[in-house]
Amino acid sequence: MFGLGILKGLGITLRHFVESYWEDLRGWGRRYFTPEGIARRRSRDTRGIFTIQYPEEKLPVPEAFRVIPFLVYADEADGTRKLRCTACGICARVCPPQCIWIVRASDSATGKPVAHPAEFAVDIDRCMNCGYCAEYCPFDAIRMDREYELASRNRSGHVYNLEKLLKPAAYHAAIHPAAFAREEAERAQRQARRTGDA
Ligand code: SF4
Ligand code: SF4
Repeated sequence: MFGLGILKGLGITLRHFVESYWEDLRGWGRRYFTPEGIARRRSRDTRGIFTIQYPEEKLPVPEAFRVIPFLVYADEADGTRKLRCTACGICARVCPPQCIWIVRASDSATGKPVAHPAEFAVDIDRCMNCGYCAEYCPFDAIRMDREYELASRNRSGHVYNLEKLLKPAAYHAAIHPAAFAREEAERAQRQARRTGDA
């Protein structure tokens, strides 16, 4: 019958509308702004409203979710930061849109290059979030952040410098627990091999 499809569609909309209020009453105080409420609305069994009330609510992202890279450092006992980056330049070379710039530091006395970046910059407007830099880094020094609310009202400040890119290893461990554990195990294995070879 002409128009039956439209009526069916309106019926579905009406059902969702009514069920939204019914589910709100059933899950009073638990349906919004709680992890279980978000999980419930994302599930196949959800009824009524299924949208996330962004930005007040945010979808949980998986561990491998990636946005912009950051540089990992370890806090030393004397309070200094020990960067893992050796300024080898591999990440800059493999980066498809070429949005990483590195200047290697040099010894102030001899002028010879040292395994440390003097400058490190990433243009986050050009970064395509591919994660190649993190994949190829041989020192686990660059990892992908999961922070995605990076929009701003101005056009400046989108080239992240070394200071802005630095994040502690504890942060990496917190957002990538499985990957961090794997990297640490591999690091321990390499260390054991080196000690065994020595
Ligand atoms: S982040 Fe990794 S790949 Fe990039 S320069 Fe530093 S050590 Fe090399
Ligand atoms: S995520 Fe991809 S595009 Fe972004 S800096 Fe790394 S290699 Fe370049």
